[in-house]
Amino acid sequence: MVEFNMENVQRCLCPGCPVQAGSKCVQEKLNKLKGASGNPGPEDVPGVYCATGKATCEGLDPSQICQCDKCEVWKEYKLGEGEPGSYYCAEGKAR
Ligand code: SF4
Ligand code: SF4
Repeated sequence: MVEFNMENVQRCLCPGCPVQAGSKCVQEKLNKLKGASGNPGPEDVPGVYCATGKATCEGLDPSQICQCDKCEVWKEYKLGEGEPGSYYCAEGKAR
């Protein structure tokens, strides 16, 4: 099980992932995070879906390539050995 914590939020590659690039909701959350102080909650972060499950934003494009296999969180937790292995934003959290 991947933990939702600030270290993992900072390592997560979802914010730059092309699957999310066209989602206005995701971009709004990213903009809010830039100006935010304190620790954001899971609902504020459009990422770390391996820990928190499916994206709550709409407008994601799963025909683009998931970035998870390049992510240090993915490597540390050996997520390639589990399910779903990638596309956590669409498939739900790592298990
Ligand atoms: S889980 Fe994968 S496909 Fe979804 S936003 Fe993150 S890197 Fe992109
Ligand atoms: S494995 Fe994917 S969803 Fe999990 S932190 Fe890395 S980029 Fe984000």
